[in-house]
Amino acid sequence: MIEWNIPKITGEEATGWNVDRLVTVEIKTGGRPGRCIIFPLYEAAVKTVGDRPISLVAAERLIEQVKPGDTVVLMTGMGAMPFMPRGETDGPSGVASLARAVSFGLKALPLVVTPPRDFEAVCGAVRAAGLGILEYEEAKATTTRCAVAIPFPYIGEEAAKFAKSMMDKYVPKAVASVEMFGPNKKGVKHFGTGLPVEGYGEKFPGVEHVFHEAESRGILTIGCLDVGNEMGAGTIEEIVRKVVPYADVCRCPCESGFACAVKADIAFPASVSNWAAYAITAMVGYLLKQPEILQDVDTERRMLEAAAMAGSADGCLGASVVAADGIYWETQQCFIRILRNIVESALSGFGIAGQLEKKD
Ligand SMILES: [Zn+2]
Repeated sequence: MIEWNIPKITGEEATGWNVDRLVTVEIKTGGRPGRCIIFPLYEAAVKTVGDRPISLVAAERLIEQVKPGDTVVLMTGMGAMPFMPRGETDGPSGVASLARAVSFGLKALPLVVTPPRDFEAVCGAVRAAGLGILEYEEAKATTTRCAVAIPFPYIGEEAAKFAKSMMDKYVPKAVASVEMFGPNKKGVKHFGTGLPVEGYGEKFPGVEHVFHEAESRGILTIGCLDVGNEMGAGTIEEIVRKVVPYADVCRCPCESGFACAVKADIAFPASVSNWAAYAITAMVGYLLKQPEILQDVDTERRMLEAAAMAGSADGCLGASVVAADGIYWETQQCFIRILRNIVESALSGFGIAGQLEKKD
């Protein structure tokens, strides 16, 4: 007889592993084995959070840290010439989904912070997700679900100064980024192709200072990523350099590879950065027993559409289409449907079998 070795895990962990597995299914490899990188990145990241599901750990930490009325900084930023003049479609929807987790779930105020090139797409996605964008004073005074959007155009010393003043003013309890350029060990930011972000004569805002400030103040940081040139990848930099093309040897004079050196308390590698954010939102919904916190399939399409209509580009397709990382909206909707199903099913129990167990 076969003896099944059933692992002793909790229901929360089982649900978290399922969610993590779903968001790490690689769809965008284009048949290139060399692009099949998410498993090793994910495995390395899991070790940094105590060998537990990353979606669960992130949701637990957010619920623990963030109380009603608090603020949470949510960031994205891939807007750079010449490829993405109005940002990328991977990023805005992830931020918008996390804004739902923060506002609908944690009853806190999302502060959406992005470089100017990404700003309109992110605001569009957040509105499509069901949150109004208001000024800070209005947001504090209203009972309507909303977010505050703050452009971050600052460079160099100005960036450090602004990050500090922002932290002083809003005192956020967590900082999360979804697909945001992060500097390598020499301070250079790169595209996933190994080319320098600033190779086209334009300085990219110093958004990393928000992470540096958060770290120095002991504020929870989360980085959602899918290649390793994004904020938070510093936590797993060694494996990023080992497995991701151009991460160790870039295509620019810095000669230091694109691997981002900035760490996060929780680095979450997923097939699409948005999906890591969706996974966290799904698990916040699960832990709070409100699966509807995660956007539904119609809202998912509206979020992607809003970013594309603001001019953001799909990072793989190079066009403002209703897709993210080369995965069109139909598949994104299917993905959301499965993700919600995992959470709803975990919350609803298993009908007849449950009754039988009770009888016994
Ligand atoms: Zn370089």
